[in-house]
Amino acid sequence: MLKNYQLPRTVYGTEEHAMFKKTVEEYFKNHVTPHRERWEEQGYCDKETWLKAGELGLLGITCDPKYGGMGLDFSFAAMLIEEQARFGAAAPGISMHSDIVIPYLEKHGSDFIKEKYLPGCCSGELIGSLGMTEPSTGSDVQAIKTFAEDKGDHWIVNGSKTFITIGYTADFCIVACKTDKNAGARGISLIILDAGMPGFTKGKPFKKLGLKTSDTCELFFEDVKVPKENLVGEIGMGFIHMMTELPRERLTIALSAIGSVRGALEHTIEYTQERKAFKQPICAFQNTQFEIAEVATQLEYHCAFVDRCTALLAEEKLTPELASMAKYHSSDMQCKMIDACLQLFGGYGFIWEYPIARYYGDARVQRIYGGTNEIMKLMISRSIYADFFQEMKAAKKHAQKQMAAAAN
Ligand SMILES: Cc1cc2nc3c(=O)[nH]c(=O)nc-3n(C[C@H](O)[C@H](O)[C@H](O)COP(=O)(O)OP(=O)(O)OC[C@H]3O[C@@H](n4cnc5c(N)ncnc54)[C@H](O)[C@@H]3O)c2cc1C
Repeated sequence: MLKNYQLPRTVYGTEEHAMFKKTVEEYFKNHVTPHRERWEEQGYCDKETWLKAGELGLLGITCDPKYGGMGLDFSFAAMLIEEQARFGAAAPGISMHSDIVIPYLEKHGSDFIKEKYLPGCCSGELIGSLGMTEPSTGSDVQAIKTFAEDKGDHWIVNGSKTFITIGYTADFCIVACKTDKNAGARGISLIILDAGMPGFTKGKPFKKLGLKTSDTCELFFEDVKVPKENLVGEIGMGFIHMMTELPRERLTIALSAIGSVRGALEHTIEYTQERKAFKQPICAFQNTQFEIAEVATQLEYHCAFVDRCTALLAEEKLTPELASMAKYHSSDMQCKMIDACLQLFGGYGFIWEYPIARYYGDARVQRIYGGTNEIMKLMISRSIYADFFQEMKAAKKHAQKQMAAAAN
């Protein structure tokens, strides 16, 4: 039940949302939490967990039912992302697969691609990843080097990707490749590489600071022969397609941030009532009360902004600038608030078997992936000053023309 200090959510109001939330909670309680320690050891989660998610309708939530999806609006996907983060469950990487990879295929893929990949993606039989980042470039996507050479009816792909979420478990990866080395952003295309194609190899899952149950790895491509029909979207339009999809990816990070803070707050409220110091529960100290009030307030404030962005995304009106604001501010807030919560656990906060340590470890990358928070600020400020710099550029051009005319 909603407490007086909790903001009524504007996007999750229906009975369907309440029923969906129950399914999600049961899934994480029964099929994810019990395996967490083992998955942390192995560095990835079991395939059966993906299949279970598919069986329960938790994959491809917004995907068209004709491809096996649920055909629901984005608010249901948003609820799943938040709940997963509230449980502190990094795996399975449903959000990457369902809210990033599937939309690329559905929105930009040919009929061949949709029919080949989407039904398996919705059932959990096929898991997909997205490869943009390379060892030598992350923020500057245009500088990628992976090259797909046109050989008539197929490409030959050479290069590598790194930090690929669920890259180790995925059955395919949508890879950003240069198809024209001299065309800048217009020379990038998206091509599906299937695991098992000769020349496509994977590194072992990285040992990470957080998100330990969700694998992240390197991918290597050496003369991989890829059929032409594996192109996603138009040739040379990969960069534009990625820019179109990034607001959704950034909002998923904001949703995960607020879910995670909610989970951490719940654990901390419980702990501060149980733990005693100086013969009283630590929640009796004014410092504890102030810290908890701050976390709760920050959380509810961010929910309001993120709810609005979620509604805008459902209407296809979420701008890259608003998505960047949601991503950067929510993830900054997440790191600060979870740090404050951890402090209230004292030494136990530093011990991995206490859930707060996991929330803390998982939070840090939120400020890095999906575009670093510095890049988010760059995008926002570029938009703010766009007219000014445009005018400056025009004035400079005009002055140069006049000088050239005077010289003649
Ligand atoms: C766990 C994890 C999962 C990931 N999953 C994926 C995935 O599935 N697919 C994928 O393609 N990538 C993925 N990434 C990669 C991630 O998106 C990149 O790490 C991120 O975009 C930053 O790139 P970089 O690491 O190369 O840092 P760099 O670009 O080298 O940046 C280093 C520092 O310089 C700053 N910087 C760079 N440019 C500017 C600038 N113009 N102005 C100001 N500061 C700047 C950055 O903000 C950062 O602080 C993942 C990363 C991690 C850690």
